[in-house]
Amino acid sequence: MSVKKVYMETFGCQMNVSDSERVATLLETKGFQMTTSEVGADVVLLNTCSVREKAEHKLYTRIGQIRKSSADNFNNSPNSKKPVIGILGCVAQLEGETLFKRDQGIDFVLGTRAVGRVSEAIEKFFDGQKNLVDLGEREFGYDWTVADSQRQFPFVAFVPIIEGCNKFCTYCIVPFSRGREKSLAASDIIRNVLKLRHEGIREVHLIGQNVNSYRPQFDSGLEKFTGATAFSRLLRAVAATGIERIKFTTSFPRDFHTDIVSAIDEHENLCNWVHLPVQSGSNTILRAMRRGHTIESYMSRVDKIKASPRNISLTTDIIVGFPNETEQDFVETLKMVEYCQFTSAYIFKYSPRQGTPAFEMSDNVSAKEKSVRFLELEKAVKNNQQKVFQNYLNKTVKVLVEKNSNKNMAQISGHTTCQTVVNFEGSSELLGKIVNVEILEAKANTLYGKIC
Ligand code: SAM
Ligand code: SF4
Repeated sequence: MSVKKVYMETFGCQMNVSDSERVATLLETKGFQMTTSEVGADVVLLNTCSVREKAEHKLYTRIGQIRKSSADNFNNSPNSKKPVIGILGCVAQLEGETLFKRDQGIDFVLGTRAVGRVSEAIEKFFDGQKNLVDLGEREFGYDWTVADSQRQFPFVAFVPIIEGCNKFCTYCIVPFSRGREKSLAASDIIRNVLKLRHEGIREVHLIGQNVNSYRPQFDSGLEKFTGATAFSRLLRAVAATGIERIKFTTSFPRDFHTDIVSAIDEHENLCNWVHLPVQSGSNTILRAMRRGHTIESYMSRVDKIKASPRNISLTTDIIVGFPNETEQDFVETLKMVEYCQFTSAYIFKYSPRQGTPAFEMSDNVSAKEKSVRFLELEKAVKNNQQKVFQNYLNKTVKVLVEKNSNKNMAQISGHTTCQTVVNFEGSSELLGKIVNVEILEAKANTLYGKIC
C-alpha cells in the first residue's frame, strides 16, 4: 500500500499552531507523509479558528478552493483522486456534525481535544466510515511532544502549559470551543523544556489562553521554587532549566500578579516581553465585556512592568466597536494607548459570535465607524511604536536568527528578547544562533541593523 500524503493548513492562534505541530508529528509516526501542497495530497486537514466571523468564512472559502483545485487536477490527470477533507479545531468543536450539512465536501470532523485521534479518523474514513465526528476529551496519556521537523521554526518551541478558558468574556467564543481551564503538570513541563534544551532548542514559548491562570493539580516539580502564584513559581522553575530564552503568552490582566515581573527581573533567560490584552480603555466597556479588570488596575500592572530595570516590552489586544462603544469610550482607549506605550497591538473589529452573551446585545457600532476607529487606533499604536523603536537606534540587541528574510534574500531575520522582528544582512549559517545586531533603522513592526 502506498504511503498516504497529508497536507495541513492552520488558522488562528498559537494554540492551533501548536496542536498542528503535534498532529503532524503523530501522523508521521503512524506512517503518513506530511506534504507542503494540497495538489496530490490524499488527505487535507484544516485546523480552524472561530474567534471572529471572518476566520470562519475563510474556512468555507478554502474548502471551495481545495475542491476546485482537485477537480482541475482531475481534468488534467484523470487518475488523480479527490482528497479526503478533515476539519479540526475550534470551528469543528462548535459546529460538530452540522458542518456536513453546511459543506458537502467535508469527510470528518475532530474537535479541539480530539486531534490526538486524527490517524484513527483517517483510517476509519478509508475503511468506509462516513461523516465521523469526534468532539471528545484528550485521551489518557496524550502525547504533547513535537518532532523537530514539524516545528514552525526549528529553534523555537511552543510548550502548552494550560488549555481552555474559564473567563467567559462576553464577546468570546473560546471558552465554548476550548473548554475549561486545565493546567498541565509542572513536572512534565519542566521535563519537556529540559529535553528541548538538550535537543538544541534556543527559545521556548509557554502558551495558553491565559498562562497566568496556571494552577496545576499537584505541586510536583515546583517544590523548590517560591513565588506568589503557581505561574510565577513555574517561571522560576523553567528559568532554572537553563534554556536560553523563555517567553510566555497570553497573560490575563486580572490574574497578572506583579511577582511575574519580579521573576523576570531575577532571571536573564525570562525574556523582556509581556503580552497583556487590555481590550478597551473604557471602564464601561470593560464591565460590559466582563473582563474582570478596570483600566486603573490594568495601568497599575503596566506601571510595575515599566518600572522593571529589564526594559520590558509590552504588547496588547484591543477590540474596537464593541456594542454601545461611544466616541468617548474610544477616546479613552486612545488615551490608554498613549499611556501604556505599547510596542505593538493586535486590533480587532468587534465580531458578534453566536452563543456568547454579547451576541444578545445590539451590534450597534456601524461597520463604517468600526473601520474609522480601527484606522485611528492603528495610527496611534504605530506612532507609539516608532517612539519605542527610537530607543533602539544605534544600540545593540541580541537576536535569535530564525529564518531567511521573506523580502530580501540577502537578509536574515529573527526576534529580540522583546519579541520585535529584526532584519539584517547575514548568511544562512547563522540560523539558530543568537547574534548581536546594531539597530540602524526602524520601520513599521520591524527593526533593521547590522551584525556587530
Ligand atoms: N485569552 C486572551 C485574553 O484574554 O486576552 C485572548 C485570546 S483570544 C483568542 C485573542 C483575541 O481575539 C482577544 O484578545 C480579542 O482581542 C480577540 N477577540 C476575541 N473575540 C472577539 C470577537 N468576538 N470580536 C473581535 N475580536 C475578538
Ligand atoms: Fe476569550 Fe476572555 Fe478567555 Fe481570553 S480570557 S480566551 S478573551 S474568554
